[in-house]
Amino acid sequence: MKPQGTVSFAIGVDLGGTNLRIAAVDGRGKLREKVATGTGVARPREEVIGEMCSAIQALAAKQKKAGGRLVGVGVGVPGIIDMKSGMLRESPNLPGWHDYPVREEIERRLGTRVILENDANAAALGEKWLGAGRKVDELCMMTLGTGVGGGIVLGGRIWHGMTGMAGELGHITVDPEGPRCGCGSLGCLEQFASATAIERMAREAAAGGTAPALARVAAKRGFSSQTVCQMAEAGDSAAQEIFARVGRALGIVVAALVNTFNLPMYVIGGGVAEAWPVFSPSMLEEVRKRSFVYVATSSHPAGGKTVIARAELGSDAGLFGAARLALMPDEVDAHNRARQPAR
Ligand SMILES: [Zn+2]
Repeated sequence: MKPQGTVSFAIGVDLGGTNLRIAAVDGRGKLREKVATGTGVARPREEVIGEMCSAIQALAAKQKKAGGRLVGVGVGVPGIIDMKSGMLRESPNLPGWHDYPVREEIERRLGTRVILENDANAAALGEKWLGAGRKVDELCMMTLGTGVGGGIVLGGRIWHGMTGMAGELGHITVDPEGPRCGCGSLGCLEQFASATAIERMAREAAAGGTAPALARVAAKRGFSSQTVCQMAEAGDSAAQEIFARVGRALGIVVAALVNTFNLPMYVIGGGVAEAWPVFSPSMLEEVRKRSFVYVATSSHPAGGKTVIARAELGSDAGLFGAARLALMPDEVDAHNRARQPAR
């Protein structure tokens, strides 16, 4: 029997490219505590994992002292993960971690089982649980950050595919002759809708002589995707054209997803989603042009309307989603069944 006053909680971890965030979350989605540290991905991976595990242990100990009962640990990492081995197969944001048995290393240090998940999958589950998708059971989410991550939630659970690598929506081809992508392909969504892509397009526009204001800013202080967004909002036509391209690329992919899945909701999150007012008109226009399923569900929504929405949890989506994984017996089972020793 549970001692009185005990609250079950899980620990969710978001191991991003630039920082490491850890949260204790209870079964109803209430955040009990959150800690953040800079990971500095250039450091050796053992050091990053070691620091992460110490922080998890410290947080767990504190929560247990306060009457909590730890039910599990979920860790979101960027890159494609093999669910069987718990290895990170490829991770553009964690370059030295290729084929590294991340799960095994974390479990060895913590002395407990953990659930390892792609960070964008975790974010999609987080938005489904507590964010934009809390009223639906199925959604696709794209996370626009340094890269573009994707996650598919079906029947309330992450769709893993055969090996855990499903949902790489950021690497759907938008332009077959487009810029080379980190994944090896050409013209992926990531090359048009990530913060990195926005900065590249702004540099190209500035160098091409067609964007005097962008060129001035570039010469003075360089730009981030936020700067380009602010310029678009202030009416600079070259910056607006960059976000129109972001919107068209997203629209092409969302239209394909609507036609494929006919889900009730498609969610756009990540830092670049802050620029929603400047890219969403062209995105929606593109979806209307390219998806007759979208048009059909919009004009006769009696059977259900397709909603394309902004994410609501900001950068916490992945943290909540990672914790949620450890709180869902079905997910824990699925991850455990998929397991095989790493070596
Ligand atoms: Zn790609």
